Amino acid sequence: MAGNRTFTMIKPDAVESKNIGNILQMITDAGFSIKAMKLTQLTVEQAKKFYEVHSERPFYMELVEYMTSGPIVAAILEKDNAMADFRTLIGATDPAEAAPNTIRAKYAESKAKNAVHGSDSDENAAIECAFHFSDAEIVG
Ligand code: UDP
Ligand code: MG
Repeated sequence: MAGNRTFTMIKPDAVESKNIGNILQMITDAGFSIKAMKLTQLTVEQAKKFYEVHSERPFYMELVEYMTSGPIVAAILEKDNAMADFRTLIGATDPAEAAPNTIRAKYAESKAKNAVHGSDSDENAAIECAFHFSDAEIVG
């Protein structure tokens, strides 16, 4: 069975620290298949919209500034139980609280610069996949 899908971004800090390859290796070793992927730099407008749910939070503008500060890798991942299993693989938002051997424990710099994004529900995964990719960009 192909499983279901979630959405991820390798964030600017992890691209800058040359960890794209290490993070993709952890993702594929954990059993996820990559169904779509691109290197891109978000515009301020895109980052504001993507993180709109956080627009009232004190860290919102800092988050938008950080997420537009350099390239990111956006990808669609497929696996049984993809959303929940990917949240487990990335670890807690704050790397100081992330379980050992999670992506954030290994590669995140801080609670803000935390290496990766992972969708937090199947509904948001579908919205976020469609935000970044057209059907023609998704394989299989
Ligand atoms: N963030 C931050 N400060 C905070 C909480 C979150 O800068 O106190 C940033 C961080 O980059 C995080 C993103 O905002 O990944 C979205 O926050 P969320 O609570 O959705 O965390 P996530 O789902 O990414 O673990
Ligand atoms: Mg979130």
